[in-house]
Amino acid sequence: MSQAFIIDGKTIAAKVRADVAADVARIKSEHGFQPGLAVVLVGEDPASKVYVRNKAQQTVECGMQSFEHKLDDTISEEFLLDLVAKLNADPNVHGILVQMPLPKHIDSNKVLESINPAKDVDGFHPMNVGKLSIGERALAPCTPVGSVILARSYQHDLSGLDAVVIGRSNIVGKPMAQLLLRENCTVTIAHSRTKDLPGVVRRADLVIAAIGKPEFVKGDWIKPGAIVIDVGINRIVKPDGKGKLVGDVDFAEAAKNAGAITPVPGGVGPMTIACLLKNTVEAALMQKGLPPMR
Ligand code: NDP
Repeated sequence: MSQAFIIDGKTIAAKVRADVAADVARIKSEHGFQPGLAVVLVGEDPASKVYVRNKAQQTVECGMQSFEHKLDDTISEEFLLDLVAKLNADPNVHGILVQMPLPKHIDSNKVLESINPAKDVDGFHPMNVGKLSIGERALAPCTPVGSVILARSYQHDLSGLDAVVIGRSNIVGKPMAQLLLRENCTVTIAHSRTKDLPGVVRRADLVIAAIGKPEFVKGDWIKPGAIVIDVGINRIVKPDGKGKLVGDVDFAEAAKNAGAITPVPGGVGPMTIACLLKNTVEAALMQKGLPPMR
C-alpha cells in the first residue's frame, strides 16, 4: 500500500494554465497586446508531431497566438536559420521553440543559439543558462521549472532541504540544480560516476530523478518522508507484451517511504507544456520591460 502523498501533475498543470490564461487576459486589457508563441517542427517524428499539436492547442486555449511552422526534413540549415531570424524580428512572436531533435545535417546548437535570448522560451540559450546561474531574471527550462512547482505544491518552502538531483544534462539536471539553489536547497548533483549513489540518495530530503533508466531508483534508497520528483519517461514492455510508461523511480516501493511522490505518467510530464506557456508570458513581459505578474 502506498503511503506517500501523490503529487497530481495533471491538476497542478491545469492550475498553471489557468494562471497563464488570467495573465494573458490582463496583458490584453492593461497593455493592449496578445502574447504569441511560434513552434517550429522539422520532419515527421510522430512523438514530436503530437507534442507540437498539443502545444499549439494549449497556447490558443490560454488566449495566446500560436504560430506553427512545419518543415520538411530535407530543408537546409540555412533555411531554418533564416526562419528563426524572421521570427526573432516578428513583434507578434514573443516565444520561439524549435522542436528537438533536428535532422542530423542541421547543427542543433547553432540553431538554438540563433534564437533571440529574450524569446528563448525553452531556456536553452547560453545567455539564459548564464543568467539563471548568476541569479538574474531569466527564461529557465520548462521541465525543471515544472518540477520545482510540483515540489513546492507539497512543501511551499524548500529552503534548507538537502536536494539530490540525479542526472546532469543541460536540459534537465543542471538547470534543475540551479533552480533548487535559488530555492535555498543544499544541492548535490549525482551522475553515472557518482560513488555510492544509494547512500547519496538516502541523505536527501528532496530527490529529483532525471536519468532515463526505468525504475532505476529503488524504494529503500528513499529517506522516510522525502519528496520524490520523477522526471523520467521510459517505455517498457510488460511480460504480457503490452507497453507501459514508467519513471526513473520504482514508484510502488518508493511510495512506501516517501512523504510525497510524482507518478509517471501524470506527474512532471503535464507540467512541461504548462511551463512553456508560462515562459511565453514571462518572455512577453520581459520584452515589454514589465515586471513578473505573480
Ligand atoms: P540524458 O541522457 O541527457 O541524461 C541522463 C543523466 O543521467 C546523465 O547525466 C547521466 O550521467 C545520468 N545517469 C545515467 N546513468 C546513470 C547511473 N547509472 N547512475 C547515475 N546517473 C546516471 O537525459 P535527460 O536529462 O534528457 O532526460 C532524463 C530523463 O528525463 C529521461 O527519461 C527523459 O525521457 C526524461 N525527460 C522528461 C521530460 C518531461 O517532460 N517529463 C523532459 C525531458 C526529459 P552522465 O552525465 O555521467 O552520463
